[in-house]
Amino acid sequence: MSPASYLTAPPRVASRSIAVARQNELVRLGVEAAIVDGELVPGDVEVADGRIAAFALATPKGRGMAVPGFVDLQVNGFGGVDFLDADAEGYRRACEALLETGVTSFLPTFITAPEQRTRDALRGLPRETGGAHILGAHLEGPFLSPMRLGVHPEAHRRDPDLDTLERLLAAGPVRLVTLAPELPGVYALVEFLVRRGVAISLGHSDARADQADAAFDLGARAVTHLFNAMRPFHHRDPGLAGAALARDDVVVQLILDGVHVAPTAAAIAWRAARGRVALVTDAMAGAGAGDGRYRLGGVAVDVRGSTSRDTAGALAGSTLTMIEAVRNLHDLGASLVEAVGAATDVPARVLRLPDAGRLAIGAPADVVVLDDSLELLRVLVDGRTRVAS
Ligand code: ZN
Repeated sequence: MSPASYLTAPPRVASRSIAVARQNELVRLGVEAAIVDGELVPGDVEVADGRIAAFALATPKGRGMAVPGFVDLQVNGFGGVDFLDADAEGYRRACEALLETGVTSFLPTFITAPEQRTRDALRGLPRETGGAHILGAHLEGPFLSPMRLGVHPEAHRRDPDLDTLERLLAAGPVRLVTLAPELPGVYALVEFLVRRGVAISLGHSDARADQADAAFDLGARAVTHLFNAMRPFHHRDPGLAGAALARDDVVVQLILDGVHVAPTAAAIAWRAARGRVALVTDAMAGAGAGDGRYRLGGVAVDVRGSTSRDTAGALAGSTLTMIEAVRNLHDLGASLVEAVGAATDVPARVLRLPDAGRLAIGAPADVVVLDDSLELLRVLVDGRTRVAS
């Protein structure tokens, strides 16, 4: 079955039965196909006790395609909420709003800030909110290049320091750290994080390619927002971007909003790193909340139209949503399965979480149902319908 042919389906089956079903009942999703381990599998999906119970079930009237819930590795805030300062109610609202964009699990991301403030934010990270699952925090900083800070406050940037890192990790569940691989003493931090099972992404960096390669060889798995806040690619000096594109064991994170990266550069990235591009939104508080003045960590940010900039005009996060990013990657030439993979199993691979970003028997039924226009029909978390169009 081709990615497009599942759509020649009869009208949708009413899904009301799912919303009222009890958790211990077997429930059919009423879909025509599902993406399972990177393959489009015809047939309906069954859920039991909040978990995937069966695929490929005969269905005369399925509608849409069940795909894994989206995983976003970089979310600074959403729906008017900035995570660095969010309380439990703020997290609850933002995590509920994220479901509307197909994101069912994500990493709240803290940009460089005073250490105590970051530790407080880590301590305040809720385990569950009832909305999108929080997989742990992404620390974007403070061990970044002073030359490639973007909007990160220079006063709080640090050269690599193991004691600082240990204090941060002790404060809360850190899942991913972005650091610059050319800084003095950085390898000790990389080795420490690898031992602790914390994923490492290279970014906000002026590294040469050989410096990036050394950190990748030590266990860094990804690059943070490719092309943004790093030494520009040059054919005699390819830098972190070139190093990440040239090797096949690195996941390339991309903000695919048409603003952070030009379409041609995004096409180059996709052609070089097909199947290992992780879409990220880098969403900030203004995402899902409209134009206005917001905070991104300690930085004042204005959202106008679809862009978010600090008062000096530098890009400061985005208002992109993950479903838009999936559509944009599909428009760039990725197949439907590939575009969905870039929002699901590829980011989950960075975190090495076996149940995130995939539909598998026994795994939690975090599911997005899409139609042929990549519109969201439904979003389920732990088998319960939370968003229905
Ligand atoms: Zn950044």
